[in-house]
Amino acid sequence: MPELPEVEITRLGLKSLINYKVSEVVIRNSSLRWPVDRSLHKILIGRKLISLKRRGKYILAEFPNGTLIIHLGMSGHLCIVSKDREIMKHDHVDIVFDNVSHKIVRYNDPRRFGCILWTEKNPLKHKLLDNLGPEPLSSDFDVDYFFQKLRKKTASIKNTIMNSHVVVGVGNIYASEALFHAKIRPQREAHKVSMTEANNLVLAIKETIKNAILKGGSSINNFFDVNGKNGYFQNEHQVYGRKDKPCILCKNPIQQIILGQRSSFYCKKCQQ
Ligand SMILES: [Zn+2]
Repeated sequence: MPELPEVEITRLGLKSLINYKVSEVVIRNSSLRWPVDRSLHKILIGRKLISLKRRGKYILAEFPNGTLIIHLGMSGHLCIVSKDREIMKHDHVDIVFDNVSHKIVRYNDPRRFGCILWTEKNPLKHKLLDNLGPEPLSSDFDVDYFFQKLRKKTASIKNTIMNSHVVVGVGNIYASEALFHAKIRPQREAHKVSMTEANNLVLAIKETIKNAILKGGSSINNFFDVNGKNGYFQNEHQVYGRKDKPCILCKNPIQQIILGQRSSFYCKKCQQ
């Protein structure tokens, strides 16, 4: 599943299309999490892409008349392809930009949990985005805010940092990694995390996500950027996917447990 770093890398890769106009929209299969608006071509043709923003794992493509809200779901990809690129099985939507090389933004999604929604209103007030917690890299996500949130929660700390009402965009991989850096066991109840530990975890989440963006994301579930390049942060995973392999700090074997139906990885000795 693409996590925040992969979505951010996708957004950055699409920025070359800003200021270009849409010349065509092709909807081959409108069936995503919610159906893609069949009149999107009428809405977008001749409109210039003004900006590309991100909120949590949503990409916000702003046009003069509204915004496309795009989520990659479990398996969505956005790629920039040329006109002669062969159509693949799960290529749902093309947005063709009238730039010099006639580049196409192509949305492919085998599992169809993603979405492409149009809104003419403020996208940040859309029901999908309105109740989201702070961005992990913003100054709003600090220890004072975070510790207050933890004090009320009896859920595990791992499930708490993956809760998008607490902080957005910390998915399964980066939650395991950040907890290792902060030396906190994933299954510990959130309200039992001290202020010092909460501070370490805030810093670890920010560092892990920043580093993953820098390394092009984790290409473990077939993620690649808009130009088809792999990320290489998966080579730096310290615990995620390393069951029974030696901890890089103490050499004890990495443990795997299931929390909230997701695999979690940690070191029994280094994380308390
Ligand atoms: Zn260890």
